[in-house]
Amino acid sequence: MNRVLVIACALLTWACTPKTVVNSPDGRITVRFALAEAGVPTYSVEVDGQPFLEPSLMGLLAEDANLDSGFSLKSSRVSAVDETWHQPWGENKEVRDKHQELSLQLRNKAGVGLEVVIRVFDDGFGFRYAYDVPMDTVRIIGERTQFAFASDAESWSIPGDFNSYEHLYRKMPLSELADANTPLTLKFDDGLYASVHEAALVDFPEMVLRHDIGLTFQASLAPLQPQMDEKAIVPGTFQTPWRTVQIAHTAVGLINSSLILNLNEPCAIDDVSWIKPMKYIGVWWGMHLGIENWGGEGHGATTERALEYIDFAAENNIQGVLFEGWNDAWKGSEVIPTFDFTRAAPDYDVEKVAAYAREKGIYLISHNETGGNIRHFEEQLDRSLDWAQSLGIHALKTGYAGDGLWGGAPRHSQIGVNHFQKVIEAAAKREVMVDGHETIKPTGLRRTWPNFMTRECVRGMEYNGWSAGNPPSHTEILPYTRLLGGPVDYTPGVFDIKYESIKGKKQYRTWGLPGTECCVHTTLAKQLANWVILYSPMQMACDLIENYEGHPAFQFFRDFDADCDASEALQGEVGEWIALVRRAGDRFFLGATTDETPRSIEQPLTFLRPGVRYTATVYGDAPDAHWDTNPTAYEITTSTVTSEDTLTLRLAPGGGAAVTFLPE
Ligand code: CA
Repeated sequence: MNRVLVIACALLTWACTPKTVVNSPDGRITVRFALAEAGVPTYSVEVDGQPFLEPSLMGLLAEDANLDSGFSLKSSRVSAVDETWHQPWGENKEVRDKHQELSLQLRNKAGVGLEVVIRVFDDGFGFRYAYDVPMDTVRIIGERTQFAFASDAESWSIPGDFNSYEHLYRKMPLSELADANTPLTLKFDDGLYASVHEAALVDFPEMVLRHDIGLTFQASLAPLQPQMDEKAIVPGTFQTPWRTVQIAHTAVGLINSSLILNLNEPCAIDDVSWIKPMKYIGVWWGMHLGIENWGGEGHGATTERALEYIDFAAENNIQGVLFEGWNDAWKGSEVIPTFDFTRAAPDYDVEKVAAYAREKGIYLISHNETGGNIRHFEEQLDRSLDWAQSLGIHALKTGYAGDGLWGGAPRHSQIGVNHFQKVIEAAAKREVMVDGHETIKPTGLRRTWPNFMTRECVRGMEYNGWSAGNPPSHTEILPYTRLLGGPVDYTPGVFDIKYESIKGKKQYRTWGLPGTECCVHTTLAKQLANWVILYSPMQMACDLIENYEGHPAFQFFRDFDADCDASEALQGEVGEWIALVRRAGDRFFLGATTDETPRSIEQPLTFLRPGVRYTATVYGDAPDAHWDTNPTAYEITTSTVTSEDTLTLRLAPGGGAAVTFLPE
């Protein structure tokens, strides 16, 4: 062959060979696709030219269709996006989506079409599968997706439990981790941070990770029933959620990433003007402490108490009030709980309370505890939401307490995912905002359905009421793990840290986990800081209102705005400390907290508007404060600052500081 012909052939081959590599816009992250032996799709990832993920399998497994092998690559295309979009609320209302996409079209001998879509951002990557199977219904029995890490890392995660996220975090080498739910957060020896999660979890079970050999982790899907092979039943043409890995060069870089939101679909609600962030209080903590009850003797949500809470909210710049146990209560003898979501308890005049809330301009947050009986709830869903709407109720907390969902399905199964989605869409139709407890983990769906304001999916404050509680470092892990998925209804704000005001009054609680059953393991100042750090567009001050009455530190919550415009995690390390600032209009709120270790944090105030003088009010730990021995010792100091100043924050063991910056 002559030289010209060789070059022509080489050019032709180059032109006809589909592209299989895609880089992040800044070129630091590279994702390579390849077909392994037997036509099995794989991918590998490099960061800064170093191996990050070794070749890892891709694809799903089905009962009677070949979804994972025999593929050939038909074509591919690379495209780029750089756009800015807006959301009605969020850590940041303006979000930039800048990525490169590689879309690969594959087909196998069984006639199965597979599109693998890979998007690479400067702060990580995600990929999803879109299948076209020549069948009406496909029974999914597993997922082949792997994450074959190139090096070991320190890891933070909760267990891969398909029924609950209410666990303490484990810190351990990745190589020793057996299984994990996501977000699974990692710190590598070379200083790189990463977090594995998923985005846009719709009509599919959740993914957890299980250790395979070496440093390889395998995606594992929640089954439709415990121990069942079947994981999902989907139509012949379907797409999976995105499998995501956020990557950053600092721990706080993970928090400042919008990758999960960027991998969700745009807002599906035309008019979002009724969706409003709020601060709230409620009849709730008393039940967990055991001094009030959801029903019967000691009933907490009485008309009298409700009016008192609404007055307190109206007087303290708080927009919402929650009443748990307002309706016909769970009868303890029932095996499968049934509730009537339109029938109030005899001593709770719902019409009077709703009218009073409307008159005072307060959101009444209703509560539907289902006990996991989703069939019963779905039967009443439309009727009860219509009824709530007729009373002007625009916010609803849902609960799924118990061992699982009706019929035995794990909470995080496709059955659960589809139920929670049904509730969100039914609520959106009636202009109802939802705070879901014991629901599915957040995967950024708030972009599409911004009425899904917040959710629990965490071992929250309630555990401090009836178990050994949450250790001081718990809330320095959450911002780098659970909150990467989205807002959390952790419910911070206990002022009576040692439960001194209720001594001898615990009489109504009949459950609990073994342990000391006492107290919140932070200082009071750290409780304030957590209102800023533990992001929720519905942010609760959870203590009894008597503990806030006349308390100087409660001024922070009065000033605080749950409706922020922009946020920045400033400094910190996973499980050790964090400093984070949020801007709402022209005001700034900063929170800083530490684990058991006392720290002095130097924080440059470069986030403030240049040339503006601010009154900075620091609600901090007193010099002798300590989470265990002296938690309520705090001090409030005020100074004038500008963006050129640096603030020194001294945090006690298990302590924190909350700062307001109000323009002068
Ligand atoms: Ca719970």
